[in-house]
Amino acid sequence: MKKHHNNFVVFLDVDGVFNTRTTVQRTPDGYQGIDDARVKLLADVINKYGGADIVLSSDWKEMEQTDDDYIYLASKLEKYGLSISGHTEDKAGKNNRGAGIIAYLEEHPEIEEYVILDDHEYDFEDYKKLWERLLLTSGLEKARFAAKEPAVEAILFSDYMREIEEQ
Ligand SMILES: [Mg+2]
Repeated sequence: MKKHHNNFVVFLDVDGVFNTRTTVQRTPDGYQGIDDARVKLLADVINKYGGADIVLSSDWKEMEQTDDDYIYLASKLEKYGLSISGHTEDKAGKNNRGAGIIAYLEEHPEIEEYVILDDHEYDFEDYKKLWERLLLTSGLEKARFAAKEPAVEAILFSDYMREIEEQ
């Protein structure tokens, strides 16, 4: 058993990570759902990494935890041994997702390593350390580095994902 690293965090977007436009799954409320294979891939990568806390940066964080769709997300994660540890707060509009992550990191100085999974760039490029840890997805399995010179944890995460997919 690998030691669980509480100091590694995955900032998670949902739409564009766990689904794409071709996803047929639907949430209980009728929105685009979540593909199990992509949740499993994330779980496998996190296991290989030695564990991670998942912090929701997706707009799904705006839901009440009692909302059917939130429960749907939580249960999809739970199915593969994952859970949501927290979420960021976007204080000044939806396009400031990076600022929300910066605020979260300031409130959690114990976080030593992190990656950001998202299918949009938002304001991430405004923060060099976020940009270096951003994996731009088109579905999780198609993740590419945002930065020309990504951080070590982004490289590791990407390498692990490739290794798992090649198995
Ligand atoms: Mg998205």
